[in-house]
Amino acid sequence: MIKQDECIFCKIAKKEIPVEVIFETENFICFPDADPVVKGHSLIITKKHFMNIMELPSDLGKELINVIKKLGEIKLKECFSGFNLIMNNFPEAGQIVMHAHIHLLPRKKGDGVKVLG
Ligand code: AMP
Ligand code: ZN
Repeated sequence: MIKQDECIFCKIAKKEIPVEVIFETENFICFPDADPVVKGHSLIITKKHFMNIMELPSDLGKELINVIKKLGEIKLKECFSGFNLIMNNFPEAGQIVMHAHIHLLPRKKGDGVKVLG
């Protein structure tokens, strides 16, 4: 188990590592992914350390939905017309940073990106 004082997303949440914050709420921060797989690829992280969705308290659900919708709205007001949400949970599913986060991948017609379907 990774120690929280070594967790890169905890350091971002504590502002020890600077990121370009898109917006933040009481329990979440949104910022651009450092290694974007598509233009505008952004992350939503919890401010507190939870390993993944299995540790995330259910009572944060409403705030999280609102954060997702607000970030989606921001991207839709830019030059995008859709977005995918991806959450990798556990290493077997591709989770590298063991701190709960959701990827938002902005999309536009004919972008050639393949995410499922
Ligand atoms: P995963 O754990 O596979 O869901 O993905 C972790 C994501 O965090 C990757 O897309 C990384 O590019 C991203 N990432 C790691 N460190 C940073 C950082 N310091 N700032 C922004 N994004 C990061
Ligand atoms: Zn953490």
